[in-house]
Amino acid sequence: MQELIREITQKLPETVVKEHEPLARYTSFKIGGPAELLLLPQTASDIPPLLAILNRCGVPVHILGGGTNLLIPDQGVSGVVLKVGCGGAERTGENTISVGSGCAKASAAVFAQTQGLAGLEFLHGIPGTLGGGISMNAGAYGGELSQVVTNVTVCDRTGAVTQLPAEALAFDYRHSLFRERRDLTILSAELTLTQDDPAAIRARMDDLMTRRRERQPLEYPSAGSTFKRPAGYFAGKLIEDCGLKGFTVGGACVSEKHAGFVINRGGATSEDVHRVIDHVQKQVFRTFGVELVCEIEMW
Ligand SMILES: Cc1cc2nc3c(=O)[nH]c(=O)nc-3n(C[C@H](O)[C@H](O)[C@H](O)COP(=O)(O)OP(=O)(O)OC[C@H]3O[C@@H](n4cnc5c(N)ncnc54)[C@H](O)[C@@H]3O)c2cc1C
Repeated sequence: MQELIREITQKLPETVVKEHEPLARYTSFKIGGPAELLLLPQTASDIPPLLAILNRCGVPVHILGGGTNLLIPDQGVSGVVLKVGCGGAERTGENTISVGSGCAKASAAVFAQTQGLAGLEFLHGIPGTLGGGISMNAGAYGGELSQVVTNVTVCDRTGAVTQLPAEALAFDYRHSLFRERRDLTILSAELTLTQDDPAAIRARMDDLMTRRRERQPLEYPSAGSTFKRPAGYFAGKLIEDCGLKGFTVGGACVSEKHAGFVINRGGATSEDVHRVIDHVQKQVFRTFGVELVCEIEMW
């Protein structure tokens, strides 16, 4: 590892390198042990050469965006965690914008709104980065990224950069090509939107944010909806109907406000969350015969 650190600091001096850094600081759950090595490139252009160096060294690499859909083990992660956290948005055409994968979704939505471009209202309240959102095909209130992404620029583990059109991205409900192709890192995306009055777009964004604040336990750390929506049901309703609101293990519990969320009430470990999830899955299956599949990704 020390040789790898030397090479990175020599060739890419702007990249911040942290050894044994607790990942709880980088996740919305506030849970996660240390990364053997955490790399924080400061510009998107540093990512391809960084990946090429890591590839030559043969270390395992995990890509981290905003850490808002992840449960990271208490014992930490071996190898390298590369946090993609840089990138802004720019207008590239009458109806198109280009957004860096490390750009916060909320910033991309606000940029589009100020440009009089509609279509990202749903994205405004979803935390995390655009790259993480594309990987999960993030969505809410009838919108999802698959509806607006037209092109994605990616980098493979050798550092080679290519473009993939939307048709190649295998978008589905909370799924994309990137769930399987872990060797691909999203660098940026082109989004195609529609023109509208900025005030009307803003009003829709505010309305969705109000609905979110009313229904979701945003006052506690979490990773959003714990489970995917099972066909024909709502996970939160099934969990509530099993009487599991408030079910607690250690610092983790099923939110009283929205049973679809497992929250960290303070000091929760990854193990606590796993035990809550396991119990909820078993109870819902016993009661309704419905299998709840995690939307949260476990590392
Ligand atoms: C309060 C709250 C509300 C939420 N509401 C919603 C919602 O309404 N709808 C919804 O869909 N989700 C929701 N989420 C979940 C989460 O915010 C989204 O899934 C989000 O898109 C994850 O983005 P991220 O940058 O945090 O990704 P991470 O959690 O960092 O990573 C998620 C996955 O994406 C991969 N990834 C990240 N960046 C890249 C990249 N550049 N290239 C390749 N792979 C990458 C990671 O390796 C990982 O596999 C919510 C979460 C919270 C905490």
